[in-house]
Amino acid sequence: MTIQIKHNFGAGPCILPASVLEQAAEAVKNWDNSGLSILEVSHRSPKFEEVMRKTEQLVRELLEVPEDYAVLFLQGGASTQFSMIPQNFLQKHQKAAYLDAGLFGHKSIKEAKYFGQVDIVGSSAGTSYSRVPEIGAVSKDTAYFHCTSNNTIEGTEMFSFPDLGVPLICDMSSDIFSRVIPISQFDLVYAGAQKNMGPAGMTLVLVKNELLDTVEHPVPSMSDYRIYRDNQSMFNTPPVYSIYVAMLNLQWLKANGGVAEIEKENIAKAALLYAEIERNPLFFGMADQEHRSRVNVCFKMHDLAKEEDFLSFAAERGMVGIKGYRTAGGFRASLYNALRLDSVKALVACMQDYEKQNYG
Ligand code: PLP
Repeated sequence: MTIQIKHNFGAGPCILPASVLEQAAEAVKNWDNSGLSILEVSHRSPKFEEVMRKTEQLVRELLEVPEDYAVLFLQGGASTQFSMIPQNFLQKHQKAAYLDAGLFGHKSIKEAKYFGQVDIVGSSAGTSYSRVPEIGAVSKDTAYFHCTSNNTIEGTEMFSFPDLGVPLICDMSSDIFSRVIPISQFDLVYAGAQKNMGPAGMTLVLVKNELLDTVEHPVPSMSDYRIYRDNQSMFNTPPVYSIYVAMLNLQWLKANGGVAEIEKENIAKAALLYAEIERNPLFFGMADQEHRSRVNVCFKMHDLAKEEDFLSFAAERGMVGIKGYRTAGGFRASLYNALRLDSVKALVACMQDYEKQNYG
């Protein structure tokens, strides 16, 4: 049987709408009738400067970024932010508070320890990160508090954020642009682009100027947020193509009603899939109900021996990317913006067919 890929539930890289992929492909051949490929143009050309300006404008508009925040397009993925944040805002004699709510948060803690002291003010490691932990006391002399809004591997999500009286820093790699989150609550937000924004290769950072003004120690140029801000993210060669495709994708998001509108569809997609996981006697959800993510839905089968069989059954029906992360096991269906409700309906039908075929 020929496998036809129709429904991509992969956790990353990005799933892009077909219209965006077409525009992106055209720009590789002949960008905007210039006779040049987008891959060949200088990042210092006025035409690309216009792309940078438009992309920043779209980010500001879609996320309602306040005026006094810098919008930066960096490289090195979200993982580079794990060390760049403490390099800028944490010194040896200081401590920072971290929430240990998943593998990526855990990795950020490891990196912060190279620069200063880390106070883990909440951890759900003991329950395999099945929930977002309670946040313990954070003293006022803490340099900042760091959390992850959506735990991509474990399928949990934060639906409210604390005001602890210290700068709030958040890794929003997997739920940025998927739901309305007031940026003004945060002092720094970062996200690898490759979920809801664009192709891998670009990292978005939104940072309050006031936080940048607190940095008094020397920071190497390529790690210094102020240098990127003062050079409009062009201190060195930016990831031109990733930024261009992100611009196309954000234009698509705007044309489709923006973040508030896509959030409604994302809520409907997650509700449909969780309802089936709860109804179907073969499956169960991995995250605690009140913390389960609308973006990455993680589930398992009661009969572990059947999981490979279900994966093949689903693949034959055009589902890809539903295998769980290697350390988490089970299944993970990622419901990013470009994945439509029809795909979730198809996965639900597939789970029901499997139930009927094997146990009907
Ligand atoms: N943080 C979160 C929440 C993620 O989901 C990921 C990757 O999926 C990362 C950090 C690491 O991102 P990158 O691969 O861009 O370094």
